[in-house]
Amino acid sequence: MSVVLDDRFARELPELGVAWRAETPPDPRLLVLNESLAARLGLNAEWLRSPNGLRFLAGDLVPDGAAPVAQAYAGHQFGGLVPRLGDGRALLLGELADDQGCVRDIALKGSGATPFARGGDGLAAVGPMLREYIVSEAMHALGVPTTRSLAVLSTGRPVRREEVLPGAVLLRVASSHLRVGSFQYAALTGDVDLLRRLADHAIARHYPDAAQAQRPYLALFQAVAAAQASLIARWMSIGFVHGVMNTDNMTISGETIDYGPCAFMDAYHPETVFSSIDQWGRYAYTNQPAIAGWNLARFAETLLPLLADSIEEGIALAEESFDVFRTEYENTWSSGMRAKLGLPPDIHAEVVASLVDELLGLLTESRVDYTSFFRHLADAARGDAEPARGLFANLAGFDTWLSSWKALGPDADSMDRANPIYIPRNHLVEEALTAATAGDLHPVQQLLTAVSAPYDQRPGFERYAEPAPADFGEYQTFCGT
Ligand code: AMP
Ligand code: MG
Repeated sequence: MSVVLDDRFARELPELGVAWRAETPPDPRLLVLNESLAARLGLNAEWLRSPNGLRFLAGDLVPDGAAPVAQAYAGHQFGGLVPRLGDGRALLLGELADDQGCVRDIALKGSGATPFARGGDGLAAVGPMLREYIVSEAMHALGVPTTRSLAVLSTGRPVRREEVLPGAVLLRVASSHLRVGSFQYAALTGDVDLLRRLADHAIARHYPDAAQAQRPYLALFQAVAAAQASLIARWMSIGFVHGVMNTDNMTISGETIDYGPCAFMDAYHPETVFSSIDQWGRYAYTNQPAIAGWNLARFAETLLPLLADSIEEGIALAEESFDVFRTEYENTWSSGMRAKLGLPPDIHAEVVASLVDELLGLLTESRVDYTSFFRHLADAARGDAEPARGLFANLAGFDTWLSSWKALGPDADSMDRANPIYIPRNHLVEEALTAATAGDLHPVQQLLTAVSAPYDQRPGFERYAEPAPADFGEYQTFCGT
């Protein structure tokens, strides 16, 4: 078979990319292949496993029509602006329409240093690339908008980190790789025509209705604000901590991107931080909605020359538009929590909100495992409250809450459809990655099987539903691995 890719991004926005080629890996071997995603992209899995398929997956065989580029973007990293970041170790190979007719970016991560590498080696290790594969596929199965992973290859090239590790390349599939940082980069050039072309490209690709609006660029801003609000609310409802919400890691599409230091909370605590470099807790669990708002303000700033005739009018319009963010966030969060608690639609939103607030206070106080709690709570709705009660130190507090909740008539079966039993728990991810780095892929495959059907309890997967053992300790994650 032969793959044909489009080069629309490279053609329409040449200022935002540098033509580049992936390094040829000395000994490429397929570690995982996402066959269902391959099918959706019209790619034949058997061919992908062949020598030419492997060359395609490694970026070595450039498909017809493709013009691979390292994308240029800026970004606020932990609040400080870096005007020129860009893909230091990634490449956009090109675009492909999937079986729904949606255009998808096909991109590589770990494919060698580009002109944006800033002294980095441009490489990636097997562990972190499999981590992105596992967590992004879990997010997809949980119904959270996300970039996806088509494959991870080991390259046969060692990567120097604190120790020498086996190198890998990940093939990432995304609605696009346009980020807030792409707009920051375009705005910083001072070239309003480039900014407008970028905005038009984003509208055509993600929000075509905005083109018909009275103010298309304001409509673009509002659409991105709504998509991000709904995304962050979903993260919050599943206990996901992204860990590095820099503006270069916030997409225009509203997909989760960049699975570096991310992790799921075990014990519920609003201040949870996993990333080793986030000493101030800027990207702590509870801060994520506010940080998304801050990032969107940076996005709005870039659009000011396009929003209205004067900058003042543009600022006023953008400020009003933040209501879209607040409303969408509240709606997605409250409907998500209503579903997790199995509450019928006729229960008033304020009743749900106060029940949720009380519950989160109790979970924090007793450091309750967030994910398994809700499955135990479904059992409580069925009449067996003991597993849930057993999680609380403040039993009297929980009992009071439990009786107010039960009085509202929760539906246990719908709770089981809203509350995952299997998530990529930190201790399981670490265990699987350690084994894979040593050459044993079985634990990765098992974990993928569990998290790819997160709501379906299956025999043999009991340990995948359990919280980390007590001796697992504080979990720390790392950037740029
Ligand atoms: P991240 O925090 O992972 O989004 O990465 C921030 C920036 O660092 C991006 O521009 C990446 O391309 C770049 N980067 C991260 N790791 C490496 C690496 N090993 N080599 C080159 N660039 C890197
Ligand atoms: Mg990034």
